[in-house]
Amino acid sequence: MLLPKFDFHEPLTLPEACQMMSEFGRKARPLAGGTDLMINMKKKIVSPEHLISLSRIDELKAAQCSGNMLKIGSCVTVAELTESELVRKNCSALCTGAKALGSPLIRNLATIGGNIASARPAADLPPSLMAYNAKVVLKKSSGERLVLLDDFFKGPGLTELQADELLTEIQIETPPPYSGCGYINMGIRKAQDCNIVNVASFISLDAPDGLIKTARIIMGCVGPKHLRACSAETFLIGKKASEELFAQAGEAAMKDCSPIDDFRGSAEYKRAMVGVLTKRTLAMAYEEVRSEN
Ligand SMILES: Cc1cc2nc3c(=O)[nH]c(=O)nc-3n(C[C@H](O)[C@H](O)[C@H](O)COP(=O)(O)OP(=O)(O)OC[C@H]3O[C@@H](n4cnc5c(N)ncnc54)[C@H](O)[C@@H]3O)c2cc1C
Repeated sequence: MLLPKFDFHEPLTLPEACQMMSEFGRKARPLAGGTDLMINMKKKIVSPEHLISLSRIDELKAAQCSGNMLKIGSCVTVAELTESELVRKNCSALCTGAKALGSPLIRNLATIGGNIASARPAADLPPSLMAYNAKVVLKKSSGERLVLLDDFFKGPGLTELQADELLTEIQIETPPPYSGCGYINMGIRKAQDCNIVNVASFISLDAPDGLIKTARIIMGCVGPKHLRACSAETFLIGKKASEELFAQAGEAAMKDCSPIDDFRGSAEYKRAMVGVLTKRTLAMAYEEVRSEN
């Protein structure tokens, strides 16, 4: 399969890249790791006339803590996420998601920004990012805006990004005390395959061994975009964490999803797995809370 013809641009700064995005508009696509875009171009799913490579823009490649905010540049690679002490310490479930993504070859190229911007309902990074209540910075020549990741995804391959905007940064408030998060993905094989179901759960307690104050449960592959298990979340608030409670939350989450039958599994099976993974990721989150006390 050959790539269609395109003009390749390699800006060195963000203002330069934004300028190109506004000049070429819908005729252009940003290129990060290329693990998604190159395949879609070879398959002729997309044929941009201009590719704007982000790989030489240094300010997109750093992860740092500023006050109580973890800021991850959109071109930080998935491999870098797996190795970052900063990410592991503040957002361990994001590390777990990064380790689950593809193979070493893919992880070395794939970026966090590309994983978010491609908006696949089965992607590995959005569930934990949404569970941590992450926001994304969308930038263009005339300014920037901050969008909650919950509001960013619109459907398969569809996002809040406008044609002249770049996703430049992911922002996560460092989690409060007595909080934890867990992520599990389930595929047919261990790597190189699309997930069947993936779930991330975040909880925070009001005191060590106290009641659940916040709960966010994100389900992948069981709707047109990553979904929140809203009734399961509401059910957990104000209650004392226990295995029994997490099993009941899993049952509630099964009613919050809308899976379809496909070659990866029946809707009935995926719904059942949502129940199991919700229960297990809540238990992982609680384990993290207890290990820090
Ligand atoms: C063999 C294989 C296995 C894979 N396994 C997994 C897996 O297990 N889990 C998983 O989640 N994914 C998997 N993927 C999909 C893919 O690798 C990831 O989604 C990856 O994170 C995409 O990042 P990228 O940097 O390569 O994006 P690119 O391919 O460069 O870009 C993807 C899309 O996002 C846009 N884009 C990229 N960066 C920006 C930005 N900063 N601002 C605006 N738009 C942007 C591009 O224009 C393009 O439309 C796999 C892919 C392959 C080929």
